[in-house]
Amino acid sequence: MHPAGGENKTSPELPGVRQIWEARKRIRPSIYRTPLIYSAPLSDRLKGEVYLKLENLQEIGAFKIRGAANKILSLPEEERRRGVTTYSTGNHAQAVASMAGKAGIPAVVCLSNRVPEAKKRAIARWGAEIRVTGSSQDDAEAYCRKLAEEEGMVLVDPFDDPFVIAGQGTIGLEILEDLPDVASIIVPTSGGGLISGISAAVRTTSPEVTVTGVSMERGAVMHASLEAGHPVVLEESDTLADSLLGGIGLENRYTFRLVQRYVSRIVLLPEEEIARGMAFLLKYHKMMVEGAAATGVGALLSGAVTPEDREKTVIIVTGNNVNPEAFLDSVKSVYTI
Ligand SMILES: *Cc1c(COP(=O)(O)O)cnc(C)c1O
Repeated sequence: MHPAGGENKTSPELPGVRQIWEARKRIRPSIYRTPLIYSAPLSDRLKGEVYLKLENLQEIGAFKIRGAANKILSLPEEERRRGVTTYSTGNHAQAVASMAGKAGIPAVVCLSNRVPEAKKRAIARWGAEIRVTGSSQDDAEAYCRKLAEEEGMVLVDPFDDPFVIAGQGTIGLEILEDLPDVASIIVPTSGGGLISGISAAVRTTSPEVTVTGVSMERGAVMHASLEAGHPVVLEESDTLADSLLGGIGLENRYTFRLVQRYVSRIVLLPEEEIARGMAFLLKYHKMMVEGAAATGVGALLSGAVTPEDREKTVIIVTGNNVNPEAFLDSVKSVYTI
């Protein structure tokens, strides 16, 4: 989306609740309205009541279908013909590939060599072309931007796009419908599209709700950027939460400001606590989820986030794209919870 004429180019208008309601109408046929379930095992261990929003149940196994669907379904005919391209740690790529495939639009996905094989296969399944380049998210992004410029494809940004943010924000509307007295929402955070959308949806109507981000300890770029007061770059290192890898972009236009405005804080988790979250969801909820998706549970189990008495807390369980062998390796060391 281009900012309206005359608008300051460096601070375009932020998407709000209106764009999120429009997204909801637009994407309804393309997504599942996921269940919000009560977690007795977590609630028993904590003072508050804990609920899980199960985005791992989306068809592609992650919430990112919401943002991709909203972006792709709002493209004008002429842009659809040129096709779409993206760079991603995997789930956004799957989302773009699946939506483009369903809409009959050509798609090229640019990935770094850190992206696991299972995710590559999952993307290829939807009929998108994959190009692997470089060893970091930034390398993949640079290549993708070149492709957009030289071949005229539409770049579907994984997080810093008002349509993508509004699509992810539809989760916030569903939470408010299902649990109107929610007090706190815990959101796995990387580029911040998810937490921006959810907090814009929720805090506009219910400003008393606390929204907390969770990231891995090493390479938490949004967290470091908040501390610095502007977007920064960090080096990437391997993590169980591989879907949280990647920067926020030095030229970040939307998510950094939205996070600054609406998010109370971002907590950081060591690898063992992420593994513990994964093991807990397996043992007590019989769900195999990826590291990123288990960070919310890890944050509660570790005490990084502590709900007050009877306070209702929602955790976003963001995705399940992890191969079973890697999953079992991760949880083995912490299985006695
Ligand atoms: C992308 C992703 C996130 C983080 O979303 P952002 O919008 O980049 O902050 C969290 N969990 C999973 C499974 C993801 O794929």
